[in-house]
Amino acid sequence: MNGTEQKLLFLRNLTLFCGGFLLFTDVFFLVMGIVYEMPVIRYLIYVKLVINTTNIYLILKRHFLIATTIIYTVIMAMMIVGVICLGTEPAFQLYALGMMACISYNGYLHARILKRELPLALVIAIHVICYAGVYVYARTHEPLYTIPESGMNILILFNSVAAFSIVIIYVWFYHKIAIESEEKLENMALVDNLTGLYNRHYLLAVLNQPEPCKPDNRWLAMLDIDNFKKVNDTYGHNCGDYILHEVAAIARQTCANCTVCRWGGEEFIVLSRDGRCTIAVLETLRQRIADEPFRYDGKPLQITVTIGVMQYDERLTNDGWISKADEKLYQGKTHGKNQVVI
Ligand code: GH3
Ligand code: MG
Ligand code: MG
Repeated sequence: MNGTEQKLLFLRNLTLFCGGFLLFTDVFFLVMGIVYEMPVIRYLIYVKLVINTTNIYLILKRHFLIATTIIYTVIMAMMIVGVICLGTEPAFQLYALGMMACISYNGYLHARILKRELPLALVIAIHVICYAGVYVYARTHEPLYTIPESGMNILILFNSVAAFSIVIIYVWFYHKIAIESEEKLENMALVDNLTGLYNRHYLLAVLNQPEPCKPDNRWLAMLDIDNFKKVNDTYGHNCGDYILHEVAAIARQTCANCTVCRWGGEEFIVLSRDGRCTIAVLETLRQRIADEPFRYDGKPLQITVTIGVMQYDERLTNDGWISKADEKLYQGKTHGKNQVVI
């Protein structure tokens, strides 16, 4: 199942949950209407039962926009009739507020998944007008019915729990989405797509953080794949990408206690800031890459790298530190490549 289908299924299940919840409230209010002899509520529920059952069919047929509009309308109608019949005491008006979180989240889902927006401003305006309207009505009119204290308590409890649950569920969904999206974006901004290593932005951010250990234990190495252009020219760009991916994997594994990033092109930086990794690890890395039996399209490839290392020097800026490592790398390139220059 691909991502879009998964999201559609989620939208279906969520709308189905709302529709199912409405059917459940129908049964509850129908019982209340019968027990406390409130014909207006009873008749409304009969109509609601027909609408809500039809709505379940619409949801299963994936008419989400119509179904969602019906759900909001039905809840608003119930809220208005509830206040007209019993006043504001049973807290029917809470549904109008609870719906705000629901409308906002559903609006988001429709825009993201169906690429069709709910007219959010209009829907919210209708809810605010209904909410204010029923309050004005309740202050100027007597309720249609008077029911015993026990019935009133049951209604207050039911309406409060239902409205609060709606708000909590939807706010929780939103909270989760906000965190997940931010993490995803952060990851996309700091991780190189091809190799899965951190990128240049991440490394520069790390270099700007306060140093965690003594200067003696800090070093920075610039690694460059030897004759990489020839790999591309001979075997194609895809082969070059494959080598980049594999070299990155070996570097990440060998220098597990360092920060390894793709600096750009076929250049990588290995940074050790906390003394857990000695410079000797770079010779191990060079050797492992030189010994690796790379194969592409059935053909064997010999890959080597040259590495320039610079110990931390407090007189250097971060740019200066990187440039010095680059100079060492250049020395290695001009003296036969496939070596570590300290
Ligand atoms: P040297 O040993 O001196 O480093 O030579 P070189 O051929 O490795 O260096 P040069 O700078 O001439 O070539 C680097 C090549 O890396 C050129 C560019 O096409 C290639 N390259 C840069 N980024 C990518 C990439 O993401 N994928 C692939 N396949 N090639 C890339
Ligand atoms: Mg290069
Ligand atoms: Mg190179």
